[in-house]
Formats: sequence, C-alpha cells, structure tokens
Amino acid sequence: MKNIVLFGPPGAGKGTQATLLKEKYQLVHISTGDVFRYNIKNETDLGLLAKKYMDEGDLVPDEVTINMLKAEVNKNADANGFIFDGFPRTESQAKALDIFLTEKGEQINGMVALEVSEDLLVARLLERGKTSGRTDDTDENKIRNRFNEYNTKTAILKDYYQAHGNYFGVNGVGSIDDITNRLAEVFDTL
Ligand code: AMP
Repeated sequence: MKNIVLFGPPGAGKGTQATLLKEKYQLVHISTGDVFRYNIKNETDLGLLAKKYMDEGDLVPDEVTINMLKAEVNKNADANGFIFDGFPRTESQAKALDIFLTEKGEQINGMVALEVSEDLLVARLLERGKTSGRTDDTDENKIRNRFNEYNTKTAILKDYYQAHGNYFGVNGVGSIDDITNRLAEVFDTL
C-alpha cells in the first residue's frame, strides 16, 4: 500500500491536488475537513459537535477526529492506499495514525508537504471564500486563527516525519499542473 500524508497550511491546495493524485495513483482520498462538512450538512451528532470548533477556526478535539479517521479507513478495506488530507494535524493524531496503521501491518510512506507562504494563503482563502460556500473562508479573523492553530499545533509535524526520514517538501506556488507534476515526482519514489 501507498499511504501518503498530504500536508500544508490552510489554502495550500491539498484538496485540489489530492483529487488529481488519487486518480493517478488509484488511492482513496480522505479529507477530514470534507468528512466533517458532510456531517454538518446532514446534521449528525458528529457534525453538530464539529461545527462549534470549525466555525471558530479551532481544531476539533483529537479523540473525535481520530475515531472518525479510523472509521473512514476501515470503510475502505480494499484500498491500494490512502491520501490523508488535513490529517494528522497534531502530534497525538500522528502517533495514533502510526499505531493504527502498524496494527494493520501498514505504515505512512511519506509526508508530502505543499510549501506556500502565509501571506499568499490568506489572500487565496479570502478569494476561495467568495465561491466555496465555506463560512470559515470568509472572515479574516477566523482565517488568522486557523493559521494560529496550524503554526502552534500542526507545523511541528514536519519534525515528526523528518525524524523518521519521511518528510518531502514541494514548492506549492505555480500552476495546478506544475504542482501536480512536482508532487507526482515525489509520490513515484514512495
Ligand atoms: P480543512 O478542510 O482541512 O481546511 O479543515 C476545516 C476545519 O475542519 C479545520 O479548521 C478544523 O476545524 C476541522 N478539521 C479538519 N481536519 C481536522 C483534524 N485533523 N483535526 C482537527 N480538526 C480538523
């Protein structure tokens, strides 16, 4: 199996690239943000809980998120592998993912990160907010809070994967095609 964490700050293009790469590599794409939004739309208990955090740009608590992620993986027992998008976002999520995959005789092959500067991303997210229907993309304060969550809790995961020799940074600025090609060069080696 090829299990890849597609990493990067909010607005870096993870969702767009994951959609293209899952086709190319026949992988299952799990976006925890998308699963939460689906649950919010369907007014499930999980959705009601997640909404409180997402509306503020805060992270949803680890235990809830980890359990949801495990359920999504288990729904796809026949997968060739996974692209994890938006997960893990904390060290405890990363550790839980490692344990969960090890129990299945699997592992993360690599964290592939889209590297883009924060200033460019705030502008990109505000632009996306005009059409995405995502309320967390329209308010600059909420966007700033998402970056704060990213910088304080998520960015350290680079060190976590680097310590295992598993971190691969890719320049995330350019056309969608160019970035897909850069990512594919790394995916091919994993
Ligand atoms: P995203 O679609 O990845 O930008 O995620 C949107 C929002 O969903 C985030 O701002 C968080 O509130 C929540 N979320 C998504 N993934 C996670 C995660 N792995 N851990 C905690 N919260 C998450």
